[in-house]
Amino acid sequence: MVMTEDSRREQLFETIDAMRRALVMTLIEMCSIPAVAPENGGEGELKKTEWLENQIRSFGFDDIDRYDAVDDFEDGVVRPNLVAVRYGLDEDAPTLWFISHTDVVPEGDLSLWDTDPWKPVIVDDKVVGRGVEDNGTPLVASLYAVRALSEAGIRTGCHIGCVLVADEEQGSKWGIQHLLEQDIFKEGDLIMVPDAGFPKGDFIEIGEKSILWLKFKTEGKQGHASMPHLCRNAAEVGAELAYRLNKVLKERYDAEDELFDPPYSTFELTMKVANVGNVNTIPGEDIFYMDCRVLAEYPTEEVLATVRGVMKQVGEKYQMPIHLSLSQHEQAAPTTDPESRVVTILGNAITQVIGVEPIVGGIGGGTCAAFFRRRGFNSAVWAKMDQSAHTANEYTYIDNIVDITKVFALMMLNS
Ligand SMILES: [Zn+2]
Repeated sequence: MVMTEDSRREQLFETIDAMRRALVMTLIEMCSIPAVAPENGGEGELKKTEWLENQIRSFGFDDIDRYDAVDDFEDGVVRPNLVAVRYGLDEDAPTLWFISHTDVVPEGDLSLWDTDPWKPVIVDDKVVGRGVEDNGTPLVASLYAVRALSEAGIRTGCHIGCVLVADEEQGSKWGIQHLLEQDIFKEGDLIMVPDAGFPKGDFIEIGEKSILWLKFKTEGKQGHASMPHLCRNAAEVGAELAYRLNKVLKERYDAEDELFDPPYSTFELTMKVANVGNVNTIPGEDIFYMDCRVLAEYPTEEVLATVRGVMKQVGEKYQMPIHLSLSQHEQAAPTTDPESRVVTILGNAITQVIGVEPIVGGIGGGTCAAFFRRRGFNSAVWAKMDQSAHTANEYTYIDNIVDITKVFALMMLNS
């Protein structure tokens, strides 16, 4: 009997529905092994990754490899990265990769938790515990999607890879950055990073804006407000600088990209540091901040050169030193093609499983996807999640665990 696409899909979904309990138990057991970074007082991810490596031996992967890094914390801690691959039908086909991270953030203020963060429990229709949403649910879902394919006897078009990386929460140096130095990912591979999302599961992130946090300090001379000729008014110079920066940046970098909301770069005057304590004193120092979110097409260095140009003009006009410091400077990676294959098969799978038409766009960023995009890989970020990551009482809906597994399995099936 030849199976139709529909019947194969139904068979896969039935297999996954039957795994509901196993999915939850694996998530609970996995998240009861803390995997906090050494710099945050934890032991790292080794125990958790070794446990996972053992668990997935029967899941239908053809290759399971470890790529451990040794970090530079004290004597060096092993930071394990696990790469598990199930081969597709065609040897030359690309690989569809699912990149999730094993590390979790610390529990934070314990008094805010209703239950033990390191002993995940089922509460009503949720699992509660540290790491169950970020990144536990998508991680377990990717592994069980492969298990479901294997149990249903399905070989896919693409090879399927599940990558469990360390060190995501602290910059990824010993995780995905380490892996990208190995000969694992090939040109044309499809990259899926299920590490951000919205409760309805209707948003696919394909790009991010660059971030610049700028601090400006003008340095004048303090004195009595009735004697301005004996002072140098740092607030006056700060005000002119703020006014000009606000105007110049918004006018010069006005490109629009409909993928983003809002569709343009933002340059906002934000925090103002208190200066003098009374009305009749001219401040000798003035500090203000700007938060800038810039479309990837503008190099941040170019924006900074414009900022320095404005500072020079104002500084020369008033003969006053102006200092700039950057508390955040992150150049956005190139945006993933919204028509790329990974985005389209993901979008189709979301519609079939969840019944929504996903919006493809750009937001915050800060996932492993940026490292892939910088190397030219199309990478989609998606999950159906309630954004309880990093909070006390972090939770995940059991229905979401099942739905995400189905979305991944369908992506694999249609790859
Ligand atoms: Zn995460």
